[in-house]
Amino acid sequence: MILTVTLNPSIDVSYPLDHLKIDTVNRVKTVRKTAGGKGLNVSRVIHLLDHDITATGFIGGYFGKWLENQLDHDGIAHNFFPIDAETRSSIAVLHDGGKQTEILEAGPTIAPEDASAFLDHFDKLLDQTDLLTISGSMPQGLPEDYYTQMIAHAGAKNVKVLLDTSGATLKSALEAPVKPLLIKPNEEELAGLLNRSVDKTDYATLKQALTDPIFDGVDWIVVSLGSAGAFVKHQDKFYHAAIPKIQVVNPVGSGDSTLAGLAIGIHDGKSDEDIMKTAMTTGMLNTMEAETGFVNPAKFAEYFAKVTIETY
Ligand code: ADP
Repeated sequence: MILTVTLNPSIDVSYPLDHLKIDTVNRVKTVRKTAGGKGLNVSRVIHLLDHDITATGFIGGYFGKWLENQLDHDGIAHNFFPIDAETRSSIAVLHDGGKQTEILEAGPTIAPEDASAFLDHFDKLLDQTDLLTISGSMPQGLPEDYYTQMIAHAGAKNVKVLLDTSGATLKSALEAPVKPLLIKPNEEELAGLLNRSVDKTDYATLKQALTDPIFDGVDWIVVSLGSAGAFVKHQDKFYHAAIPKIQVVNPVGSGDSTLAGLAIGIHDGKSDEDIMKTAMTTGMLNTMEAETGFVNPAKFAEYFAKVTIETY
């Protein structure tokens, strides 16, 4: 099975408003609440494409229960580690013709004993896992190398790891002896890692950036480029995955959907070309839906056929 990690899940609340009024009352008629956090977007897309997944991470309180019920309702298997603190919620106000104002809670602080007990819980799940995805930032209280420790646990059990994070946690994972199989940095994250700016429209510069020794030992590097598709390194091969022009409804979560596609393609042992085509298709299908981290599987074949891969 595929195991997805969301250490800091969230109830994502969206409030659509014609106009956001400051310093007074705003009343909303329709409220949408979903199980969120980047890893849960990944989970939903993998599940929608008919693959076995289990979601894990830390969960707590009444909000945590609500979130687990929501996953049950969606048919997504989960095995979270319970903590005493309440799971967070994140509010997005969609207003004034396309503006999005977000209020994000930091979420619970993980106690050292919970951090250590989670690794035992995680080890048991790894026994039934072929491929692991780790997404997003970490909750407070965990050491910077916590993902790195998880990757080492996965490596000891020959589980492939796809890592989608940034900053110090990504840097720590790249410096460790056991590397993730795949990382998915964007332009900003690449610049942060390399200490210089990287122009994502210049593929020669991108290619050079991805050959930096900091990435040695990482099999796959996927730099997603929004409507321009993605620039990809797999071992010593470089590719540009090009996508057709589509009608974008909501691009939030497309990076997570791309990771879901990569997970499915790699899990199923597909060719490089098909792995990239799957990932571009899941990314595109997500942008075509109002719901975040959601794809319509009925459109998969049509859009898969429209992705083109060039070696670079
Ligand atoms: P992230 O959310 O990680 O920044 P991107 O915005 O690069 O990710 O999008 C990930 C993938 O989703 C892209 O590689 C592409 O397949 C699809 N996608 C995103 N934005 C668009 C768009 N405007 N048009 C078509 N496809 C898109």
